Amino acid sequence: MLTTPPANSAAPEATPADRQAALDLVHGEIAACRRCVEAGFIPKSLPIFHGHAGLRLMIVGQAPGPTAGERPLPFTGASGRTLQGWLERAGFAPGALHEQFYLTSLTKCFPGPAIGGGKGDRPPSAREIALCAGHLDREIALVRPEIVVSLGRMAAERLDPTGRRLPLAELVGSVRDAERAGHAFRLIPLPHPSGVSRWLNEPAHRARLEAGLAVLRRAAEGGRREGYDASRRDGVSFSP
Ligand code: SF4
Repeated sequence: MLTTPPANSAAPEATPADRQAALDLVHGEIAACRRCVEAGFIPKSLPIFHGHAGLRLMIVGQAPGPTAGERPLPFTGASGRTLQGWLERAGFAPGALHEQFYLTSLTKCFPGPAIGGGKGDRPPSAREIALCAGHLDREIALVRPEIVVSLGRMAAERLDPTGRRLPLAELVGSVRDAERAGHAFRLIPLPHPSGVSRWLNEPAHRARLEAGLAVLRRAAEGGRREGYDASRRDGVSFSP
């Protein structure tokens, strides 16, 4: 009988089918998670994520947006359309966001609107990120992506703590060696695609985004040259 695996239990020699079976259990546990409700951070939990264990590309955002309650997929609103546009500038096909990437975030539930009537959403607190960290670690350990794209400073710092003292403008445009839950991957930081972010108002920052997309293009093309098909599913089916 399969049991939900700890974050560091994904043996490298596990078959794709084994990893998918374990990931299905993790998905079930995340779907039932109420930690942030019980801790008083959010009124209800609605975890959102998408993908399967055969994917070589992963995107880690900050947290789902308000449309998470209406649609079962991450990145189906304006941020998703912006992100898909960025991917196409990096050489990906239309639809690649939801077909070729495992999609997840630091916290899987919408944190609520910005406090005090500000624009956008409330960023998840350090405590909420810590409550959800085990879920993310097990996703990474079981999906085992070669390339992880982080969106925004919080996700980049969580995945590569060595970048904590660097401004986002230095992180975006770089490719970083990172490791979580015993799995090593290349981290490519991008800014958050949220329409309320003012980071991209600076021409210099828009140039950094183009540099980051060029890094992503080269990394993905490198994988294709080495013989991997980013859309390949390792012969396993995905149970949403
Ligand atoms: S954000 Fe993560 S830890 Fe918090 S309730 Fe949702 S799934 Fe659970």
